[in-house]
Amino acid sequence: MPELPEVETICRGLALRLEGRRLTRVVQRRRDLRFPLPDRFAARLTGRTVTRVARRGKFILAHLDDGQVLLCHLGMSGRLIIGEDATARPEPHDHIVFETDDGAAVRFNDARRFGFMDLVPATALAAYPRLAGLGPEPLDDGFTGAVLAAALRGKATSIKAALIDQRVVAGIGNIYASESLFWAGLSPRRLARTVQGGRAERLVAAIRRVLAEAVAAGGSSLRDYVQATGELGYFQHRWAVYDRAGAGCPGCDCALARTGGVRRIVQAGRSTFYCTRRQR
Ligand SMILES: [Zn+2]
Repeated sequence: MPELPEVETICRGLALRLEGRRLTRVVQRRRDLRFPLPDRFAARLTGRTVTRVARRGKFILAHLDDGQVLLCHLGMSGRLIIGEDATARPEPHDHIVFETDDGAAVRFNDARRFGFMDLVPATALAAYPRLAGLGPEPLDDGFTGAVLAAALRGKATSIKAALIDQRVVAGIGNIYASESLFWAGLSPRRLARTVQGGRAERLVAAIRRVLAEAVAAGGSSLRDYVQATGELGYFQHRWAVYDRAGAGCPGCDCALARTGGVRRIVQAGRSTFYCTRRQR
């Protein structure tokens, strides 16, 4: 599932390809994704020029020249694929195709259809329900230890569950929650409300570090394909603990210890990976 760094990379790729381009044709193959698409969706987009592509949390926001914003969430399995040739045959699950005035196309493909799109006036964006409740952007300067500590105060959930709650901080999912908690030395099972003071400072520093590194990795991956074609947003990345059950975590001999290395547990139906030695 794409998280902040993947969505940021997708936004940068879309910005390079779409900003200043006119949507000459929008092919809509379904009336709904996760939710129904807005009325006259394709017609309202056709002829519009994309002025700017931005991100908020895991949302892609394509600003249009008529003051509307095309809002897109990729859900679990949504993909945006840039093709040079708008006349290419659609793949299964290509639900929406945006053709541009340079003869290229961006395809939205989503086999599971947990993704969704909407059209919102830019002036109403801040009040849009799915955006209004979002917590701070973790890479913004305003996201400090004190801000995170205040959001966690009184929370009786695990810190892992709190981190993937988009109201606490925007854009973090399963992968970057595990990685951030590892680098902060905090157990994912710890009660969220106990992450205060120095612990909150450490966690904010770790979140910013893992996200910034992944955004940078995504940025270098863009150079490889933005001149060509392909799927946006996925890049090679090495994890310290995520998906590494049984392996040793960096700089620790936990794999040789009785604990047997990185442990996988399930919290609220989602996998969490952590080192029981280094994370308390
Ligand atoms: Zn370890």
